[in-house]
Parts: sequence; structure tokens; C-alpha cells
Amino acid sequence: MRNLCIVGLQWGDEGKGKIVDYYADRFHAVVRFNGGSNAGHTIVHNGRTFVFHLLPSGLLKKKRLLIGPGVALDPLTLNEELGMLAKEGGEADLMVDERCTLVTPLEKELDSFIEGLRGAKPIGTTKRGIGPSYAMRALRLTPRAGDLAKGDFDLSSAIAFYRTFLKEIPDLSGWTENSKKILAGRTGDVGGEIMALNDAGHSVMFEGAQGTLLDLIFGTYPFVTGAHTIASYVPAGLGIPNGALGDVMGVAKAYTTRVGGGPFPTEIPGETGEQIRKEGKEYGATTGRPRRVGWLDIVGLKYAVRLNGVSELALTKVDILTKIREMKVCVGYSIDGEETGDFSKALPRLAEAKPVYRTMPSFYGLELRENHLPQAAEQLVEFLEEELKVKVTLVSTGEERSATMQRHA
Ligand code: GDP
Repeated sequence: MRNLCIVGLQWGDEGKGKIVDYYADRFHAVVRFNGGSNAGHTIVHNGRTFVFHLLPSGLLKKKRLLIGPGVALDPLTLNEELGMLAKEGGEADLMVDERCTLVTPLEKELDSFIEGLRGAKPIGTTKRGIGPSYAMRALRLTPRAGDLAKGDFDLSSAIAFYRTFLKEIPDLSGWTENSKKILAGRTGDVGGEIMALNDAGHSVMFEGAQGTLLDLIFGTYPFVTGAHTIASYVPAGLGIPNGALGDVMGVAKAYTTRVGGGPFPTEIPGETGEQIRKEGKEYGATTGRPRRVGWLDIVGLKYAVRLNGVSELALTKVDILTKIREMKVCVGYSIDGEETGDFSKALPRLAEAKPVYRTMPSFYGLELRENHLPQAAEQLVEFLEEELKVKVTLVSTGEERSATMQRHA
């Protein structure tokens, strides 16, 4: 079986964690390839809710867990999650790439400091130090996970840099000792491990964090995350050949959400937006912040499908729209009276884009039974398949693993 990559097609929080968990049985290992503890993946299992920020979502299925070098690693968060897992009676079979950039308390300070500099125009970072950790790597100022594990850990250049603008530098000796213990025996070459697994006939799943429209280069810059969120970062970020990427499954919610600042053409003002937020529990898994809510945006999805080379789609949270009387999807943008369906062209002026909506049959009151999609929902799915030219393989109708409809094998 080929490897499979799962990526978000919107601004994150599409429900990737549930889809990864659903498919995990078929794969030997689950690999995180981007982001850091700013991501929050929620899995509901047997009525209990688990939120993980760093460990790949395959952990509840006792899979081999790999954290690639494209991840900004906060060892203390990792330790907390390993502790949570131990409480459930599990022990993680984990390898962290020795090239991972680290998040020390200094990068968290830098995150707050920079957000402060933006004054009235914050980008709304989670202040977990992820962007600064990547920046420190680009500046070649910070040691990496393997250096820490080997005990060859010199923060003096980083500290000299921080002294130029931070009034106080926290004592990092305790952090360093702790982190070293956490990483001991857990670092290695994740790309090499993936290739060895593939050579032995085992497939792996790549789990994306955040969503396509938050990609550092191709997203709604500057309101983006500090890393790449698209599927082509899997080979580049893990050091494996392009052919090892395998299939790409895009995950999209049946509506759209976005956390933090930035343009959002289909945002729903007023009561309907508030109702979707409440029904969909649209509050950040990492920060608890209310998410902004909007209608499904086909223009953005087309762009995301193209960027990722999506071969199949999972549509989530269909059940939430059964509580909502209206149903619209955005099929174009109007900017200065001119219509476009090209997200990339609209991007520089996205804040001014007025959505062009198509009204769809409402899902209100639909009964979602196992393996049967009511007509209005089926109509939306077929519309998406036609517009996006990809198969909708999965339709998710609830938090639980069991509330998942497989439309194609
Ligand atoms: P991720 O970062 O993409 O994994 O998304 P989050 O975990 O932040 O948010 C998705 C939330 O939606 C989680 O609480 C999931 O349990 C939940 N969820 C996923 N799919 C569905 C669905 O089909 N219906 C409902 N009601 N909740 C879902």
C-alpha cells in the first residue's frame, strides 16, 4: 500500500486528527512533518476527548510515532503528552528527528515581543514560540534536538542575540537538563526510518498541522504560520524522495473557520455565525479562542486542491449544518465589480473580496444515519466533486470514529 498524506485545505482545525485516527489502523507509523505545539488535534474516543499538540494522532492506535525535522519541538510539551499517554496505559514508540529545531523559553518570549511590536495589528499567534524557533534556525542561532540529546548544547550565540532586546534572560539550566532527559534515546533520522519502513513493505501516514491557507509562502501572508503546511513539504521537510509522498487526502469542513486575524471573505456576521460556532464547538484547541466562522469557500478549496495535488477529499462536520437553516457556498469573489474564481489572483486584495454565493438545499433537520447520506448532503458532495475534480472519499458526521461514512474504497 502507498503512503498517505493528510492535509488541511482551509485555515486549520478541519478535523484532521479524527481522520488520521480513523485511517491509522492501515499504516505502520504516523509522521508529523510540520508545525509545532501551536497545532491542536482533537480525537474523541469512547466518549473521551484527547487533545494533542505534538505527538502524531496515531498514538491512540499504538502506532510507531515519528516527528520529522520540519517540526519545531518544545520538549516540555512533548513530555506532558508522553505523561498523558502513560496515564492511559500506553507507551509511545517514538522517534524525534535530530534536526528538529527547538522551542526554548526564549522563543516564547520572542513570540510575545514581536506580537507586541505589531501594536494594533497583531497577527494572532498562539505565542508558543513556533515562528521564532524557525526564524532562529534560519539565522543559524539555535542548536537542534540532536545537539541537546548529545549534550553538545551551546546557547551562547542565541542568548547574545536575545540580550539585544530582552531586558531579562531567564535561567535556562533547569530547562536544558530536563529537556535533555526527555529526548535521551529518542532522537534519530526520521527520513531514513521512513525509507527503511517502506523498504520492509510498511506504509506510513503523514499528518499535516494547520491548513493550506496558513502556509508561510502560499497562504494569506502575513496572517500565516511560520512553516509550510502543503503536501510538497512532506518530501522536502522529511528528506525523502517525492515518490514517497504517496496519495494526498485533503480535509475540509462543510463550512469554514479561521483563528486570529487576516482576510476571510465568507465570514458570517451575526446570529448564524454564532450558532455555527456554538454547535460546532469552534473554540481553539490550543488557546480556547473563539474561531471566526464562515460559509464553505470553493474558490479557496480549488486553490488548496491544486497546491497540494489532492487526490481525494474528506468532508467533516456535516452534522453541524443540520442545526442551521441556511446553506450557502461561495463560488466566486467580486473585487471592484469584477468577478474571479482564482484565489491566487484575488489574494493581494482578499480583504476587499465580496463572496458570490450559491444557495444550496438546507441541511436543517436532516437525519444522519449510518452509511446513508441524505439527499441535500449528497448534493453538496456531488457539487464539490464536480467543482474540485476530486472524489469525496469520506464524510464525517460526528466527533466519534464511528460517525464516518466511507463513500469510496
Ligand atoms: P484538526 O487540528 O484539523 O485536527 O482539528 P481540531 O481537532 O482542532 O478540530 C476539529 C474538532 O472537530 C475536534 O473537536 C473534532 O473532534 C471535531 N470533529 C471532527 N470531525 C467532526 C464531525 O464530523 N462532526 C463533529 N461534530 N465534530 C467533528
